[in-house]
Amino acid sequence: MSAMEQIMAHARQTQALAQVLGRLGWDQETVMPRGAAAQRAEEIAALETVLHARRTDPRLAAWLESAVPATPAEAANLRLIRRAHERASKVPADLAAEIARVTSLAQGIWAGARAGEDVAAFLPTLAQVIALRREEAAALAGDRAPYDALIQDYEPGASAESLGRMFAALRPRLVALRDAVLGRPAPQLAGSFAADRQMELSRRVARAFGYDLDCGRIDIAVHPFSSGSGRDVRITTRIDPADPLGCVYSTIHEVGHAGYEQGIAAEHLLTPVGEGASMGVHESQSRIYENQLGRSRGFTDWLFGQMRELFGEIGVSTPEEFYRAVNRVAPGHIRTEADEVQYNLHVLLRFDLERALIAGDLAVGDLEAAWNDRFAADFGMAVDRPSNGMLQDVHWSVGLFGYFPTYTLGNVYAGGLFAALTQAVPDWEGALARGDAGPAVAWLRGALQVHGGMSEPRALIEQASGAPVSEAPLLAYLETKFRDLYA
Ligand code: ZN
Repeated sequence: MSAMEQIMAHARQTQALAQVLGRLGWDQETVMPRGAAAQRAEEIAALETVLHARRTDPRLAAWLESAVPATPAEAANLRLIRRAHERASKVPADLAAEIARVTSLAQGIWAGARAGEDVAAFLPTLAQVIALRREEAAALAGDRAPYDALIQDYEPGASAESLGRMFAALRPRLVALRDAVLGRPAPQLAGSFAADRQMELSRRVARAFGYDLDCGRIDIAVHPFSSGSGRDVRITTRIDPADPLGCVYSTIHEVGHAGYEQGIAAEHLLTPVGEGASMGVHESQSRIYENQLGRSRGFTDWLFGQMRELFGEIGVSTPEEFYRAVNRVAPGHIRTEADEVQYNLHVLLRFDLERALIAGDLAVGDLEAAWNDRFAADFGMAVDRPSNGMLQDVHWSVGLFGYFPTYTLGNVYAGGLFAALTQAVPDWEGALARGDAGPAVAWLRGALQVHGGMSEPRALIEQASGAPVSEAPLLAYLETKFRDLYA
């Protein structure tokens, strides 16, 4: 076999094992017995050790030296294999295993602390996770800042400086828009929303957005997520008997992630290119499905009919009222429930706090006070309990530092993509009004999803949207939509 063939055979096995690791995580958050948590942490750490050994396999260096790519896909795979090899080689195996073990356990500890509103029960674990990730960041950083090293895991090529500049441009216009529309009267749903009917609606909505349920499934989780790639891409949603829109929009969001993975060309299956290009690009898909498409007037007209059919009276009686209810801008503590206007302000808060935590400028013991002060300054209201404050998100417990900014970056990417989509697919909204996201999804698939990890994230977005990455299209979309809604 040639070096190219050998390295690809090796990469396929590594990729397959990484999928198995992902499925252990899916299981942990959906159906795993609670008593299995400690054992699962050992299982995950063991598999992480195997993966680390494969990514640091000494043969890789020789293969990378002599492999000659014959196709663009082989060249892209080599680029990604080299990156993973260089990253893993900088991190000692025992540190990689320890991070996997501790973050697996920490997730359950965070969930317990959140349920009990008990910050003190979480802080020792959080301190341990931060110390481990700082150690890893120091090993990875070279001449970069440690936080920038962590960002590379989620958004290759981005930096705190470039993201900070983009966020500084977003903030004043988001705040001005929020101040113009917050608290203005808007209808709200009311009624009886049985769990099994919400799940039925979730399946209908998922199908409307092209989710292939033969190669996926929908389960329930506290924090909805999607998992897997290729022919096994699963999503979760949440059920709140009082809030059916939480289920609907969690589903659409996760279908955006899953649809992206399902849309990657089959030839890339179980190769490094066969996954989404970055978390920012991933979030561009989930957010454009959820917001620009899912919260459009066209789609909400169809959704209104579906909900009336499944639930009867829902507290609003016209499609116009329903559209306003879906896009209601109201005060709230929770990022995942935030409207489009305020969502990014939640992300900006986390970006600044986690940067300070990793830099060592903010002690873990001071985090709750820092969060609450900042929340009051940004949102004009107090945090009433920890589950509405620093315990609301799972991310830091599982070591995801440098991940939050990709949410807002994804929204910015989505803004540019949507501007291009509306030019290329004039009837996108008419089709959505018939419950068919097909034309919009087909454009996203062809322009972006099918390519998987062939290009670096920013280049991929610029190629798909036909314009440089800029926050301007997102701001223009939000200002037009919400000033119209509240005119
Ligand atoms: Zn997402």
